[in-house]
Amino acid sequence: MYRAAAVLRTALVGTTISRFESVGLVGPVPQVGAAIERVENHGKQLEIVFDDGIVLHTQFRMRGTWHAYHVGQKWKRRRHLAHVIIETEDWVVVAFGTRLAETYRQFDQSRHPRAGGLGPDVARLDADLHECASRLFHYDNQDSTIAEAMLDPRVMSGVGNVYRCEVLWSSGVHPWALVSSVPQSTCLDIVLTAAGQVRANLQSPVRVTAPDVPGGLAVYGRNGQKCVRCGDVIRLTKMGTHARLLYWCPGCQVGCEPYPERDDSDPIARMMDAHPAGSQFISDILRHRPAS
Ligand SMILES: [Zn+2]
Repeated sequence: MYRAAAVLRTALVGTTISRFESVGLVGPVPQVGAAIERVENHGKQLEIVFDDGIVLHTQFRMRGTWHAYHVGQKWKRRRHLAHVIIETEDWVVVAFGTRLAETYRQFDQSRHPRAGGLGPDVARLDADLHECASRLFHYDNQDSTIAEAMLDPRVMSGVGNVYRCEVLWSSGVHPWALVSSVPQSTCLDIVLTAAGQVRANLQSPVRVTAPDVPGGLAVYGRNGQKCVRCGDVIRLTKMGTHARLLYWCPGCQVGCEPYPERDDSDPIARMMDAHPAGSQFISDILRHRPAS
């Protein structure tokens, strides 16, 4: 199962699903277009985590396991024996011999409402988007990163991880920008962009946020490829308590970029800074600073 998880991880993580079928599944069904965030195994059990917060939990009988096939490749077992089928652009993964296949919604503070009430659903045409922008700007934890605050349903709902990455790219905002450093106009831009992208894709089975980019997404799933805006290489970083996948471009997402914190206790950092002229300048400032 450990090996199956490794194979599934390689095939699935970061991709979006084009088909999900399961015989006798208990629980919510992952939707077409949902992205796969993680694959984990615990003994004979294997879990696939989707970006809409749904977790598919599978347990297997003695000879049961997940198979991974390229699209069009012949399966090694008969189709009617398949319990779960997940298809992406390049892969079909199939669970055979399951003892149990069930889905549940993961408890995740970034996906579930806490005290304070849900923010408006940006997919709704009557949603008050200025209210969302205000909730983002006045976010209760100003030391949060903008990327984390955006996913808090108390700010707005309906924005999943794919949109988070795409909206930040579109707005040119650094994902690690602290909420406290993001101006109100940028908060509004983020919300309006999110609403525009979510609404444009309501009827579509495949999410498109950047029609000019092959695949339709500007950064999501494009790590290692060139950014169409600046030509820099798109990065993939795990972020936050749930280590969600964050795709971003370091070349052009520089809006509100946080300054790296300097650790002056580090002797090497101190040595690097020890240019005599610099030291002289700083000691002058300290000497001439008026007493407060
Ligand atoms: Zn770029």
